[in-house]
Amino acid sequence: MLIKNAKLVGREKEMDILIRDGIFTRIEPNIDEENELEIIDAKGYIVTPTFVNPHMHLDKVYTALKGRESEVETLEESIKIMHDMKRNYTVEDVKSRAIRAIKDCVSHGTTKIRTSVDIDNIIDLIGLKGVIAAKEECNDICDIQIVAFPQEGIFNNEGTQELLWEAMEEGADLIGGMPAAEWTDEYSKKHINLVFEIAKNYDVDIDMHIDQTKDIFARSLEYTAMRSLEEGYHGRVTGGHCTSISYQNDAHAEKVMKLLKLVDFNVCTNPQVLAIMGIDREPRTRGVTRIREMVEMGINIATAQDTICDGFHIFGKGDPLDYGLLCAYISQYNTPATVKIVFDMITINAAKILRVDGSYGIKVGNKADLNIIEAPNIQEAFRLRADRKYVIKNGNIIVENISSTKFHSEI
Ligand SMILES: [Zn+2]
Repeated sequence: MLIKNAKLVGREKEMDILIRDGIFTRIEPNIDEENELEIIDAKGYIVTPTFVNPHMHLDKVYTALKGRESEVETLEESIKIMHDMKRNYTVEDVKSRAIRAIKDCVSHGTTKIRTSVDIDNIIDLIGLKGVIAAKEECNDICDIQIVAFPQEGIFNNEGTQELLWEAMEEGADLIGGMPAAEWTDEYSKKHINLVFEIAKNYDVDIDMHIDQTKDIFARSLEYTAMRSLEEGYHGRVTGGHCTSISYQNDAHAEKVMKLLKLVDFNVCTNPQVLAIMGIDREPRTRGVTRIREMVEMGINIATAQDTICDGFHIFGKGDPLDYGLLCAYISQYNTPATVKIVFDMITINAAKILRVDGSYGIKVGNKADLNIIEAPNIQEAFRLRADRKYVIKNGNIIVENISSTKFHSEI
C-alpha cells in the first residue's frame, strides 16, 4: 500500500508512506507509484498513529442506554446502580456489549484498549469471560489488555481475593486495584500489598483506580508509588484518576509527584467522568488530577474514555478527539503547542502505559497502524472532531469513512 501526500505531525513537508507486509517500509517524499500497489491519496490531511485508550470498562458499557434509576448523582449512588445492573449480566450479554464498544472505539481510530473488568462476589467471573470472548472475536481490529479489577474492594468483599487469583488463571493480562473501597487505611495498604503479590507472581503490570475521590487524607497513591519503588516496578504501574492529590496541600502533592516521577509512575486522568465526583456548591471543583503540574514535571499522563453510557456516566462514544477535547478544556490547554500535549495523551503517552511504545508510531520498521484524519493539523482535528477517513491496522484498511454532508439549499 502507498499513502500519498500525508501530513505527519511535527513535519512541514508532505510525505509518502510505503507499507509492505503490514510494516512501514519507507517514509519519504514522492515515492514512485508501482502497479501492484493500492494507493490512497491523503490529500495533505494529517496521518497519525492510531489512538490508544488505556482505561475502559468494557463489561459495563451501554448498560444505561435506557437511562438509570437515579436522582442523586454521587459516586456512591452510581456504584449502587452498577450493583443492580451487574446482577443481570450474562457472558453473552457482556460479550455483545463489549464488541459493540470495541467497534465504536475502532471506528474513531482506536486500535489498542486496556479495559478493567469487575471481579467480585456479585459478578464472579462472568464479566471477565464475556470480555475475553469479545477480545478474541475482535482480535483483527483491536489489541485488548484485560485488568482483573476488584471494583468492590478485596477484604470487604468476601471471596474476591480467591477470585482475583482465578481471574489471572482464566486469562486476565494485568491486576487492578481499588484501595479506596476498603473501610480503613490499614486495609487499603493490605489491598495494595496483595495487588503487588499477584502482579509479581504472574510477572504482570498493575493498573489501579487510586484516590479517585476528594479525600484530602487519601494516601494510596503515594503508598502504591513507594511499593513500586521497593519492588522495582518502575514504569509498570498506572494509577487511574488520582484526583485526591488535587485537594491536598501543595507541599504534600509536590513530594508525591516527585516520587511518581522517580518510579516512572503512569497516571490516567479521565475528566469526562467528573460527573461522578458529586455535586458541589459553587465554586465547583473540577474533580481531576493535577494534569498541568504532572506534565511540567515529566510524569507520563494519558487520558481515556473510561466508560460509555453506564451507571457512572451516561455519555461517551469512544472518540478520543471528543474526550481529548474535554481534557484540553479542563486542563486549560488552549494553544497549538499545548493541544499537542493532549494529542500525546491519547497517542504516545497512552501507548507508554500499555508498554507498546517501542513498536508504536509511524516509523520505518514498525507495524503499519495509522489514521488519516480529515484535518490539516491537530488543532483542527480536535476543533472539528474531524472524520477519520481511514483507520489502518497492520497495513489493512479496517475502517473507511466516506460520509459527506450535502446541502440542499441554494444559500
Ligand atoms: Zn475506571
